[in-house]
Amino acid sequence: AMDNSYKDVTDPSVFIKFKLKDQDASILAWTTTPWTLPSNFALGFSSDSDYVQVEHHGENLIMAKDRLKEVLGDEYKILREFKGRELEGKEYEPLYHYYPSNNNDYHLYSANFVSMEDGTGIVHIAPGFGEDDTQLGKEHGLSMAESVDDTGMMDPIVEVAQGKYFKGADKFIITDLENRGLMYKSTKITHSYPHCHRCETPLLYKAQTAWYIDIQKVKKQLKDTNSDINWVPEFFKHGRFELGIDSAPDWCISRTRYWGAPIPVWECVCGEKIVAGSISDIEKLSGQKITDLHRPDIDRVTLKCPKCGQQAKRVPEVLDSWVEAASMPYAQVHYPFENEQKFKNNFPADFITEYTGQLRAWFYVTHVISNLLFDSIAFKNVIVTGVIQGNDGRKMSKNYGNFPDPKEAIEKYGADSLRLYLMGSPIVLGQDIAISESDWANELKTTLMLLWNSYKYFVTYASLEDWELKVEFTTRPTALDAWILTRLDQTILDMDESLSSYQIPKSVAALKSFVDDLSTWYIRRSRDRVGPGSLNIEDKEIAYTTMATVFKVFLRTSAPIIPFISEYLYRHLTGEESVHLEDWPEVNDRSVIDTELLSKMSQVRKIAEMGNASRKALGIATKQPLSQINVSGNFSSLKDEIELLQLIKDELNVDEVVLIDSKEQGIEFDTQITDQLRAKGKARELVREIQEARKLAGCRLDERIDVELPDWPKESEEEIKRKTLVDNLVKGDTVKIKRHP
Ligand SMILES: [Zn+2]
Ligand SMILES: [Zn+2]
Repeated sequence: AMDNSYKDVTDPSVFIKFKLKDQDASILAWTTTPWTLPSNFALGFSSDSDYVQVEHHGENLIMAKDRLKEVLGDEYKILREFKGRELEGKEYEPLYHYYPSNNNDYHLYSANFVSMEDGTGIVHIAPGFGEDDTQLGKEHGLSMAESVDDTGMMDPIVEVAQGKYFKGADKFIITDLENRGLMYKSTKITHSYPHCHRCETPLLYKAQTAWYIDIQKVKKQLKDTNSDINWVPEFFKHGRFELGIDSAPDWCISRTRYWGAPIPVWECVCGEKIVAGSISDIEKLSGQKITDLHRPDIDRVTLKCPKCGQQAKRVPEVLDSWVEAASMPYAQVHYPFENEQKFKNNFPADFITEYTGQLRAWFYVTHVISNLLFDSIAFKNVIVTGVIQGNDGRKMSKNYGNFPDPKEAIEKYGADSLRLYLMGSPIVLGQDIAISESDWANELKTTLMLLWNSYKYFVTYASLEDWELKVEFTTRPTALDAWILTRLDQTILDMDESLSSYQIPKSVAALKSFVDDLSTWYIRRSRDRVGPGSLNIEDKEIAYTTMATVFKVFLRTSAPIIPFISEYLYRHLTGEESVHLEDWPEVNDRSVIDTELLSKMSQVRKIAEMGNASRKALGIATKQPLSQINVSGNFSSLKDEIELLQLIKDELNVDEVVLIDSKEQGIEFDTQITDQLRAKGKARELVREIQEARKLAGCRLDERIDVELPDWPKESEEEIKRKTLVDNLVKGDTVKIKRHP
């Protein structure tokens, strides 16, 4: 049923006395559907519950002990107490004799659906009305009476409510039972009752003849072919999916509705059934042109019975819409009527994805139909997603206000951040998650902005200097460049591997880790290498080439995960039409990865991390140069790595790095600040101040200027001028930018 199809309604709540045959006592049973009483064929009780026989206003009544107070109030005397199972098989006088019965009818039977929450602990059973009743009727061979027809009208045979609509029959039946002294009590109850979700008409539970697929017959095959499907997460394969097959009932594929795909079966009065396989089948047997396969047109088409020559009529039912959902692989290409090759090329599908609810629905029915038609699976790989709950773990609801407005949040954080958030979460491994707006927002801050700013940094300086885009190196890349390039290869291989096995969160983790390395280490450590203030032309060329290579290749890798930012940056960088038209970058195999360099760089970063933490603890800002840092630990592999040691020097602003072999890991700065170091620190501080002032004055990045300063260390004058693009340093009261006319 749809979530919103239950509504609170007020219905009769009646307590009826069923006279036992072998003693002077009545079973007190309860129902809210008096209109089903003419079809009563049994009473149900709970075997293990306690029941009582009581004297009440001079009558002997039998009911559940737990329900006494609620139903009878205080005026009763308990005569006898016993377990429900004692009632098994007792016979009672039927309320009505409209329908033929058999020897199994009008007895008490144990029923596991009897509840002690309402009623009397004894329920009236009308097989054919409701699943429980029908099932119990089947088990005990009870009769079934169709006292209500498919339009909801009472059977004329039921004289007390002849020709009434089923809901309207209640009052006539109640009055009749009251007149005959069989009604103990008749009140009203407000309870939730299913309604048609379109027109809000109360629904009627009723047995009907229907069309089924015999699932029991194909269960073994369904399970056998399931072994060919790659389930992500894997535990659904032999878990919920296979257990679902095990417990699956036969599939009722017919619906008694107007709208839907009409079942293509025509029935002749002689009993012959004609199953039409195509429009031309229908045209051949009907002798008329078919233009509409839907009701009502198709119902007017009669087929000539090949057996007796009479006119066969279409059966009234339409198909369960899951049959259509399950037919997608064939119906979408109009197979078998055309596109045979296209169908064969794409079946079974490589990949499908849907949420856990489909384990018993779409995944299941699709599997059934493909097995029935082709003895085949319908899909090779499937990702089962969980459900997004509200931020409090409850179902998302406007009333609870427990989820961010999707449109507003996408406006704020972007769709790529939502993809990173969800694709990186266990929801793509079949688990439910509680939506977190801050986690979503964080993807923008921690990954997308880092990528954006890294690219912006590169492209700002590269275009400022009219650097021409190329990805071939003319000289050997530095260790830092080689490191980010091998990290790129590693990332491509990692993502390729996890995407190939449909492990989406792993691929997202690899992507995020690369962006983090790119931004917080590679770009951070390359800041002095590019731009007009950097003198080492050769190194600048290497840095630009590395960055260009990284972005050109990485954006192709990131495109499937974060398509929008990847597209924007790739087009900006290359001028190509679309990153989504490019191939996935190829990396031969793991042998190209420089694992030694990766391990050395992680040692460098470890030292940098310890050094930064130590400077913080010492209260000596990084801008103040220090003479030396002693690093103890097992870092001997870095001993001859001049470029790598230089990275540590630059990051921690020290002149010397001394490695000391030791089992203990630790670092120690020489904290003595000489006049010379102080002057260097002062120079560095001035560079920062001038750059700030340049920004405030709105100078172009390559604009040369003059500057007034109160004071500066003479030995650093050239360095200051070079780094800040200053032609003349002049004495003045404050830091002041003087732009050239
Ligand atoms: Zn309706
Ligand atoms: Zn016939």
